[in-house]
Amino acid sequence: MDQFKYRRRQMVREQIQRRGVSDPRVLEAMEEAPRHLFVRPHLAAQAYEDFALPIEGGQTISQPYIVARMSEMLDVQSHHSVLEIGTGSGYQTLILARLAARVYSLERVGELARRAIERLRQFHLDNVKIQIFDGTVGWSDVGPFDRILVTAAAPSVPKPLLDQLKIGGKLLVPEGSRANQQLVLYEKTSEGLHKLSGEAVCFVPLIGRHGWNASEE
Ligand code: SAH
Repeated sequence: MDQFKYRRRQMVREQIQRRGVSDPRVLEAMEEAPRHLFVRPHLAAQAYEDFALPIEGGQTISQPYIVARMSEMLDVQSHHSVLEIGTGSGYQTLILARLAARVYSLERVGELARRAIERLRQFHLDNVKIQIFDGTVGWSDVGPFDRILVTAAAPSVPKPLLDQLKIGGKLLVPEGSRANQQLVLYEKTSEGLHKLSGEAVCFVPLIGRHGWNASEE
């Protein structure tokens, strides 16, 4: 039992369950995942607080509640193949790895991807692959996917990602402006695309061919 176990239990109860996340698999994954190992050492004491924290490259590790909410909304099953866009610290990747059969994660910032790979090594996961690439074009070699999670803010859902979603598949993306977005869940059915809007969020921008322009960064 690590020194933060109690803090994590408290985080799950007070920040996550209290706001209505109830999927037991998600709650268990959140209670097990040592978020303090995904932030810089001087921020470890704040790792279980109710906010996002800065990571390298001007990016952020999402607020624990948002990670839990998105994981629940995406409805990830143990046989699923999941594509994640925006590896960042690798924290959300670890949660997905506990929920799904396979996780493919793309990160555009090389330094972040390399650190995430290094960090995740200690968990001996055999179901995660991370690559340095513009995630807005997806990962067609290993698709189509049952689930796609975009963890950066898109002006609108990148079309290649919808193309790489299976029929019956779900894609969750924060859509909106660079400053403010709303979680949007797309479900691909044989009749077409269903769209469901969720809560207001604030993510760093998704930068790439089907995202925001890098020059405005
Ligand atoms: N899920 C992460 C949060 C990362 S913040 C975590 O739990 O830590 C969003 C990440 O998306 C940043 O690391 C950013 O570099 C990355 N990103 C932005 N545009 C991207 C793109 N086109 N392809 C892949 N990653 C991208």
